Amino acid sequence: MEKNKNIIGAHVSMKAPDYFIGAINETLSYNANALMFYTGPPMNSRRQPLEKFKIEEGLELMAKHDLNPGNIIVHAPYILNCASPEDHKWKFAQEFLVKEIKRCYAMKSKYIVLHPGAHVGSGSEAGISRIVEALDNVLSQDGTDVKIALETMAGKGSEVGRNFQELAEIIKRSKFQERIVVCFDTCHVWDSGLDLNDIDAVLEDFDNVIGLDKLEVIHLNDSKNPLSAHKDRHQNIGKGHIGFPALQKIFDHPKLKSVIKILETPWINKKIPPYKEEILALRNNDESLLPDNSKPE
Ligand code: FE
Ligand code: FE
Ligand code: ZN
Repeated sequence: MEKNKNIIGAHVSMKAPDYFIGAINETLSYNANALMFYTGPPMNSRRQPLEKFKIEEGLELMAKHDLNPGNIIVHAPYILNCASPEDHKWKFAQEFLVKEIKRCYAMKSKYIVLHPGAHVGSGSEAGISRIVEALDNVLSQDGTDVKIALETMAGKGSEVGRNFQELAEIIKRSKFQERIVVCFDTCHVWDSGLDLNDIDAVLEDFDNVIGLDKLEVIHLNDSKNPLSAHKDRHQNIGKGHIGFPALQKIFDHPKLKSVIKILETPWINKKIPPYKEEILALRNNDESLLPDNSKPE
């Protein structure tokens, strides 16, 4: 890949029979140079043994195509709740994350994207304390450089991380600040109430509250809902309420050049991945290259 090229990829699947090799091949089919996957079903925590993942072959395939393993993102299952007031759930999340870090390390991935958690009525202050303790427990158990990227949330239910302040608080209170960064999800940030049409103001806010050096992953998604909807429903690039110009500006923003960008937009008619065309349209700043998802099935 050329040096100054934007780093962009999509949510790909890593499943039987090809696992990691399949994820890389899917990435290549989108002309992407980054990728994100769950190491198993996102809604549960059953995982295959690492030996099954075909890691060595996958890394060879990446090298052959000049893909940087540093651009591999792993998304933790969204059922983990590091903010849970219930001990068994809280401990379970930690045990899973310790193992997930080992999987990441084996695949040379540098980031686990994590939904901070939901306080389920205990209050965001209590939720934040639980998260800090959970992450400190997890990060004290390995000597790797794998980072946890806390995702900005839309603010539905009792989600923690619905604003920059909450994420800043978690990072500030951790003993492992250097290993906690932020994944900025455009759909979630929009749904939480920040107008991405003024991305410079949003980034200034991010810089003041968290520090822009902590922004290491972007989930680039349009939103099915208007500003401040607190919903979290992703839409294809240019087909939602954020719109192509605002998303394109984020894609090309000079302050975000080195940030890994991942598309998590829906498949067209649940059948066809839109990523090859969405990446092409963003790279060329040309909305007409976006896939046509207006056709009925
Ligand atoms: Fe997520
Ligand atoms: Fe996301
Ligand atoms: Zn989402």
